[in-house]
Parts: sequence; structure tokens; C-alpha cells
Amino acid sequence: MKRIIAILLISVLMFACKTVPFTGRKQLSLISNQTVLTLSLQQYNDFIHSAQLSNDANAKAMVTRVGQRLAAAVSTYYRSNGKSAELKNFSWEFNLVNSTQVNAFCMPGGKIVVYTGILQYTQTEDGLAVVLGHEIAHALAQHANERLSQQVAVQLGGIGLDVALSNKSQETRNLGAAVFGLGAQVGVLLPFSRKHELEADRIGLILMAMAGYNPQTAPAFWQRMAANGTKTPEFFSTHPSDANRIKQLQSCMPEALRYYKK
Ligand SMILES: [Zn+2]
Repeated sequence: MKRIIAILLISVLMFACKTVPFTGRKQLSLISNQTVLTLSLQQYNDFIHSAQLSNDANAKAMVTRVGQRLAAAVSTYYRSNGKSAELKNFSWEFNLVNSTQVNAFCMPGGKIVVYTGILQYTQTEDGLAVVLGHEIAHALAQHANERLSQQVAVQLGGIGLDVALSNKSQETRNLGAAVFGLGAQVGVLLPFSRKHELEADRIGLILMAMAGYNPQTAPAFWQRMAANGTKTPEFFSTHPSDANRIKQLQSCMPEALRYYKK
């Protein structure tokens, strides 16, 4: 009996592994993408309904322009590698929200939100591409699914994961908020792991380079954030930045520059 359970467990885990684009890392994925999408869309709609969208036409146009350029580069790359099917659940949306919070995120499925508070740190379109490239990378690499898989496996004992997540309880919503990076609103913060951060940095650099933004502007952005660490609690608490991280970013630069066309 024990042997049968072990064999079942191994086959579930093998089946539950996916491969991260660009890096080739194997990741745990116990939850269907459809469930993650349903849950994240719920969070996104709640958020957008209560958010105060910016009326700054120039800034809004910039967010859309940079976001669309990155999304187009992603589509081109996936198409030329025969992987368009992996983007079928992506329906890009770009929003600029009035807030002093220094924050930005990309939900699973490509729902992008930028807070006006982060624009003083991004400064240029290249700077904004650093943030959006990084956030889109989290979405493409399905870090939310991996985080949910890990969290739910711990919290709910790994039984009936999809069922547990679809019951819309407050606990589930809070877990979703924490996982999708909206935790600041509900007081539950789940920082990205160092592994996910570095992976999003690496993929983000490639994405911005593919879209024609200079990846060499990225370290300066993170240095600006680090210099104001205590004053930028939201983004900073989920995206800790330090000398080591910036060093890692530099080590990814040659790879990103291969994709860079001015
Ligand atoms: Zn991140």
C-alpha cells in the first residue's frame, strides 16, 4: 500500500512540474492555470473598482506605450519559438492608478497596474520598462501559481487544491492578495522569494532588451529604489534590493544584451 502511495505521489509530482520560460527551471505547479486566472481576475476586478485611476493623459499614454511594446516583444518571441499557445490566457491591460504608494504589478493573464508613486523612481521609459519587464516576467514564469501551490499545500494540506481555491472564502481571497502582490491592501504581505526575484530580474532584462529598451539602465533604477528603501515600503518590502541583488543583475547583463536591438 505504501509503495502504491509513493508511486502515486511521485507521478503527481512529476505531472505537477512545469518549465519556466527563458531559464528552463523546473517548478511546482499543483493548481490549474484556469483556477489561478479565475482567482486573480477576481482580485483584479475588486482592485480596479476601488482604485482611483489617473487622469494624467501623458503618463497614462506612457504606461500603455511601454506595456504594449513589452507585450508585443513577448508575443513575437513566443510566436517565433512555436509557443504562442502558452500566451492564450493572456489578455493585456494597462492601468495607471493615482497613489503615493511606490508600487506596480502584473497579475496572471497580463493585467498591469502602475501606481503614480513609482514614476519618480522610474524617471524614463527605460526605467518604467525595468519595472514592467520585471513584473511581466513574474507573470510569464507563473510565479503566482508556484507560490499558491506552495502556500496552499502547506495551509490546506494539499487536499483538493482547486476546490479549496474556488470557494471564494475570505481566507482564500487574502491568500490570493498575498500571492498576487496586492497584500498591502489587506495587510497580508508575502514577499517574493529571492529565487523568484532573481529569476524575474533575469527574464525582465531580456524582455526589456527584446522590446528595444536599454537593459543597462536597470541597475541604476534598483539603486534609486535602494537609496530610498525606508520611504518606499510597498514595492521595497516585496522587492528587497541590495548590493548583492544588483551584482546578480549585472551578471545577467551579457545574456540580455544579446537580445537588445536599439
Ligand atoms: Zn518581483
